[in-house]
Amino acid sequence: MFDFVVVGAGPPGSRFARRAAEAGHSVVVFEAGEVGEPLACSGHVSTDLWAFTGEGAREALLQNEIYGARFHVRGPGSDDYPFYKESVVSNVIDRVGLDRHLADLAREVGADVRENHAVTAVEEHHDRVAVTVSTPDGTETVEARMVAGCDGPRSKVRTELGLPEPDELLHGVLGFDETADHEDFVDVHLTVPRFFAWRIPRGEAGVEYGLAAPPGADVPDRFDRLVSDYGANVTRRCSGAIPIGPPSTVTSRRGFLIGDAAAQTKPFTGGGILYGMTGADHAARTIDPGDPSTLADYEAAWRDDLGTEIRLGRWVRRAYSLPEPIQRLGLRATAGEIGVHMDRPTSLFSLDQLRAWLSRS
Ligand SMILES: Cc1cc2nc3c(=O)[nH]c(=O)nc-3n(C[C@H](O)[C@H](O)[C@H](O)COP(=O)(O)OP(=O)(O)OC[C@H]3O[C@@H](n4cnc5c(N)ncnc54)[C@H](O)[C@@H]3O)c2cc1C
Repeated sequence: MFDFVVVGAGPPGSRFARRAAEAGHSVVVFEAGEVGEPLACSGHVSTDLWAFTGEGAREALLQNEIYGARFHVRGPGSDDYPFYKESVVSNVIDRVGLDRHLADLAREVGADVRENHAVTAVEEHHDRVAVTVSTPDGTETVEARMVAGCDGPRSKVRTELGLPEPDELLHGVLGFDETADHEDFVDVHLTVPRFFAWRIPRGEAGVEYGLAAPPGADVPDRFDRLVSDYGANVTRRCSGAIPIGPPSTVTSRRGFLIGDAAAQTKPFTGGGILYGMTGADHAARTIDPGDPSTLADYEAAWRDDLGTEIRLGRWVRRAYSLPEPIQRLGLRATAGEIGVHMDRPTSLFSLDQLRAWLSRS
């Protein structure tokens, strides 16, 4: 009997496994495929990422440093409204490499990470969970005191535990042009229903084009138009779901969700790497596998930390759907140097942001 079965070895799953194993718990992680594959993520993160990684990670994973974003109300070549800092705002990283690095950190402290193991069923009992796993050698059932569902936006664990779904799943598409680009601004186009399209320079790794929108919004056609308007030569594509809006509860009797399974994402960018790992740290700190009442502590802790950011992030996202003339007015009035933290919309009301405004005037 393990203390924790973790389903999914993305950043939140591996982070939780590492922290739980460090705390002395026995942990097994089941990953349906190979860690990090297939890629469905831009890997555009705040510099806070490096607080979650180990030695040598920055040198190995960093692809580019970003100082700001140019917002466009229309497509490529249209007027832009730059928002920037004098220091680095964000990093573009090798996301596949990040997942492998975090899984290695979990293994180093004793977590048993098993690839090509897909969880097909979860049963909750009053004193344990029984998890059925499809492995390369057949099906097996493993028992643990608790199960952590870190299995992404379409979480099997969430369904098996009877937990509610996130409010919304956006459809995201990415494509890569291999031409190196070391520019330090990303481009954001508010040309997509209720979300946006983007261009990210990834240094020697080339340029990424992407967009996300509610399903049915002609995502592939819009993506083809974006790439063609940029005149890009996209050689690789991928797509994935982005959950927005956490369900009312992410805990059951002996199970809990972390990361995209719990929709721990930023509603205004879809980014979930940092929020998911933050959720993982709250879970590892609060949950005692022998005491199901501690699940309520996890539920309270992550919502106390991220709930206001997520609520405010939903308001920021509403601006993407304003009529074009109002968007232009708003962008013109606010463009320039900023003091906000990209993961913390509450920093719009911070001293740093006030200083940035005052320095402009
Ligand atoms: C197009 C796109 C671009 C994005 N760009 C960014 C970005 O720039 N920055 C950012 O912060 N976030 C970004 N995100 C979001 C980010 O990718 C997610 O928030 C993050 O991957 C969440 O990690 P996760 O481990 O919860 O889920 P996932 O990354 O989906 O990982 C879940 C893992 O669980 C495994 N799994 C699933 N089912 C089972 C099962 N039954 N048994 C065993 N294993 C299972 C999967 O194989 C997978 O490895 C983007 C997402 C998309 C779709």
